[in-house]
Amino acid sequence: MNVLVLNCGSSTLKFQLIWTTLDAMKSGEDKCLARGCIERLGGESVITLEPAASPPRKTSEPLHDIRGALEFIVRWLASEESGVDSVRNLTGIHAVGHRVVHGGERFVRSTLLTPEVVRHIEDLTDLAPLHNPANVKGIRAVEALLGKDIPQVAVFDTAFHQSLPEKSFLYAIPYQYYRRYALRRYGFHGTSHRYVAYRYRQLLGLPKEQTNIITLHLGNGCSACAIQAGVSIDVSMGLTPLEGLVMGTRSGDIDPAIAHYIAAKEGLDAHQVESVLNKQSGLLGVSGLTHDMRELLAEIDDTNDRRANLAVDIFCYRVRKYIGAYLAAMGGADAVVFTGGIGQNSARIRAKVCEGLSWMGLSLDAEKNENCILGQEGPVHTSGSRLKAYVIPTDEELLIARDTVRCVQGEIQ
Ligand code: ADP
Repeated sequence: MNVLVLNCGSSTLKFQLIWTTLDAMKSGEDKCLARGCIERLGGESVITLEPAASPPRKTSEPLHDIRGALEFIVRWLASEESGVDSVRNLTGIHAVGHRVVHGGERFVRSTLLTPEVVRHIEDLTDLAPLHNPANVKGIRAVEALLGKDIPQVAVFDTAFHQSLPEKSFLYAIPYQYYRRYALRRYGFHGTSHRYVAYRYRQLLGLPKEQTNIITLHLGNGCSACAIQAGVSIDVSMGLTPLEGLVMGTRSGDIDPAIAHYIAAKEGLDAHQVESVLNKQSGLLGVSGLTHDMRELLAEIDDTNDRRANLAVDIFCYRVRKYIGAYLAAMGGADAVVFTGGIGQNSARIRAKVCEGLSWMGLSLDAEKNENCILGQEGPVHTSGSRLKAYVIPTDEELLIARDTVRCVQGEIQ
């Protein structure tokens, strides 16, 4: 089955065409046929196209909205340039899988889309005002372009965390806010944490029930997840993706009173303060230089800039605190697993996160750690380390494609 995987944001659309079947996903033979990314929707869009067998190409074109972007994608997939021989017209796309950010408490697994399901996703707009409307636009654009009969599946960022017990998803605020507004911790990056946990137990030949790990998704957005017996029991992101670890531009945990304080001192309204915490904080806010970890590390090498060092220190310290907290919450774990752009590629950050943790049984093998970059996966701990450490590159799109096929074929209901 050729599955078009769509990640529709307010101004960006990422896509992959993935071939998979129930058998292929078991043997790991499923594969990405082509991928790409459209940025700056609404103006002169910047388009990156990556055919499977040839180098990426960048181009630009005015694309007004998600519908226009989707038309462009389908035209490109059907063209010679994409190199996808099995898609020469619209019937070569057999199903569409959407990354949907918020599934609230209703969606506990990936779900085949019906008009009723789409309505429920729209109803959750209050909880994800930037994301869910873009996801719904993507769903409607597919319907308009590929017809009502093409199966579409929603794979939710929040679904994996619906197993959280009340003690970890409830905030200690008046209970009626949970009843009235569903104010609680939802957690995000669920597809990534779930994929990494799945891949970990595949690598070690473990059943789900014996998967006791802490997964660390460190990218532009960052989150930690405590996975016990294969299910998520705690996660660092909360009602929104703002809580928890320090991220590229997000603060992560702060004293909630800070919001009011900044508002009063700077003359900002609540919306503006939220924007400061989401877009001007984290690595960017502390360093005053960049949100990009690679650039920060280069700056440290070049100039040993004090605030760049401070940003990286705070970032790693926060991750380490979460590892400690989750080990306590879980009563111990077997491994810590690094993923995401930073987690997969930066041996230096992994080493800094794990610094001083040998007392609790975690020690990294310097050579293995240095060598595990650029998409490699495997263990990075020393042979005597009681708590193991792994690097496992995430692949959310692959999981979305697999879930799409499993929903279409009735394996997930
Ligand atoms: P997103 O969360 O948007 O999917 P990624 O998972 O691609 O983003 O992560 C992006 C982050 O990964 C950026 O901060 C980038 O600098 C960082 N990164 C990528 N490669 C490296 C590297 N070799 N060393 C350090 N940081 C890296």
